Formats: sequence, structure tokens, C-alpha cells
Amino acid sequence: MEKVVIVGTGCAGLTAAIYTARANLSPLVLTGTMPGGLLTTTSTVENYPGFPEGVDGYELMVRMQKQAEKFGARIKILQALEAVDFSKRPFVLTVDGERIETETLIIATGAGHRHIGLESEHLLEKKGVTYCATCDGAWPMFRNQPLVVVGGGDSACEEATYLTRFASTVYLVHRRDTLRASKIMAERTLAHAKIKPVWDSAVTEILDVKQDKVTGVRLKNLKTGEESVLPCAGVFVAIGHVPNTQLFKGVIDMDHNGYIIPKKGTATNIPGVFVAGDCSDHVYRQAITAAGLGCAAAIDAERYLAALNE
Ligand code: NAP
Repeated sequence: MEKVVIVGTGCAGLTAAIYTARANLSPLVLTGTMPGGLLTTTSTVENYPGFPEGVDGYELMVRMQKQAEKFGARIKILQALEAVDFSKRPFVLTVDGERIETETLIIATGAGHRHIGLESEHLLEKKGVTYCATCDGAWPMFRNQPLVVVGGGDSACEEATYLTRFASTVYLVHRRDTLRASKIMAERTLAHAKIKPVWDSAVTEILDVKQDKVTGVRLKNLKTGEESVLPCAGVFVAIGHVPNTQLFKGVIDMDHNGYIIPKKGTATNIPGVFVAGDCSDHVYRQAITAAGLGCAAAIDAERYLAALNE
């Protein structure tokens, strides 16, 4: 039987792994479908303390994993956490058909990319529609072509700036006329010669499903109602995230958007189940806050186990 199982290997999960491993709890860490979490898909992280020159997101996560393993964390790559049973103790997890028993669980499943919700978006995914510029931006089909980024937050700005390396022009399509992104990021983005903002506009269709590739987007100006077509070779959607908590629905308390609501500290409504990171935080959503919450969840789990054995 495990003392601690951690689900998720983003900043929250791996920090929880470092702390619980150093507490001699030999945590079992389940990767989820995106080992290293969303940070592995960003380019340079400029605001993680201790890296004045910035650090590559992928490299930061590799370093965190090494640090956790150095102290005895065991990383298990899995396809799917299929079921959880919190009705008896120890808890029972079903992972790729295997049964794992554990005294505590730390949920650090993070959040996935939000989709616009268009049928054409779904049909053209990986055929010119993507959710990650650092993963897909260098594809030959995007070279020297006009590209569209949808969104107005830090992610959209980061994607747009990154894509200027490849694109002829990057159109930043945002539903309002001011960016949500941090001031420094917004200013840098709007000052870039290759980035052209398209304000007050929504993408209503991605063209062209019949040709089985992206040739443009149909836009609607939300103030005037005017419709237009903007030719482009790729659409990069960066409109925020959805928490990966579906498996816990109905068992663990969460809000109407699926973010887990801790009861006290990182403890959930089920004693012995703790939560950390973007799956419970829709306010701060930073690498450093996720890491901090991972640390807190590890300490809470350690204290819970100590109290059980008193
Ligand atoms: P975000 O801050 O939630 O921004 C999402 C953007 O998408 C908003 O501009 C929003 O419009 C727009 N949007 C949402 N739903 C939409 C829809 N259905 N159709 C069209 N547009 C839609 O998300 P994010 O940019 O992914 O950032 C998430 C967090 O990570 C933030 O805290 C951010 O600071 C952080 N982050 C930091 C860095 C960095 O510091 N290097 C990089 C990336 C992300 P409205 O503005 O109208 O709501």
C-alpha cells in the first residue's frame, strides 16, 4: 500500500513529490497524459524566481522531476487514471487497469486548453488548428504565412510573439479592445511590427473544412455585427484553460467550472485527499503559486499521516 499518491507532474505535483519524498514517504507520482504539465509547452519562463535570465519551461520541469526522483519519488507514466474509490480506506485507484491502494492522495491534475467550441475547430485540429505555438509553430505549413492567434491573455501574447519567428504576419484576434495580459507582455506584443491586433472580434468559423486544411477564419465584429474573412494558414487558440477534474466530479467539492474547492488549506471534503495547483486555482495560475500549493499539500498530507499513526 502507498502512503502518498500524487496525480499530476506539473509544478504542483512535482513540488509535492519533492516535499513528500524528503519526508521519507516515497510518493508514487502518476504523470497524467501530459508529463511535466502545461509549462512544458511554453517557451522561456521569465518570472520563476531564481532564474534572472529566464528558464525554458520544459527544462524547468525536467529539473523538478530529477529533484523529486533524487529524494525517492517514483514516477509512473500512465495512460489513464480510470477510477477512484474514496468510500473505503485505504483509497483505491484504478490506473491503466491496475489497482493501487493509498492512504492519501494529492490531486494536482492541472488544467487543459479551452476550445472555442466550433465544429470547424474540432475538424481542423492538427490540420492547422492548434493550442500550442511552441509545440507546432515551426511546422513548414506555417512558414512565411499569415497566422491567427485567438485570445487576449498572457498566453495569447506569448503565442503571438513566439510565432513572429515563422509567420509573415500574426493577427491577434480578441473579443474586446483591450488585452487581459500583464502590462509588460501586452506592451511588448502590441509594439511588435509583425503582430496586428484585430479587436472586438470573434472567430465564428475556421475555413476550410472541405479542403481539410486551414485557409482562413470567418470573423464577426462584436460591436458592429460586421462579418469578414481573414486568410491565414494556421489558427492558434489561447483562450484559457479548463480544470482536469472530471474524474472527481460528484465526489470532491468543486465550483460550477470544475475547479476543486479546498475545505481547509489544501484539504478537500474527503479527509486524506488534498489538492494543489491549477485544478483548484483559477485566480493566480502561475508556476510559482502552483509550486507553493504543491508544497502546502505535501505538508498537509504528511501531517495527516502523522496524526493517523499517533
Ligand atoms: P486568461 O488570462 O484567462 O485569458 C484568456 C483570454 O481568452 C482572455 O483574453 C479572454 O477574453 C479570452 N477568452 C476566453 N474565453 C474565450 C472564448 N470563448 N472566445 C474568445 N476569447 C475567449 O488565460 P491565459 O492567457 O491562458 O493565462 C492563464 C494564466 O497563466 C494567467 O494568470 C496568466 O497570467 C498566466 N500566464 C503567464 C505567463 C507568463 O507570465 N509568462 C504566460 C502565460 C500565461 P477576456 O479578456 O474578454 O476575458
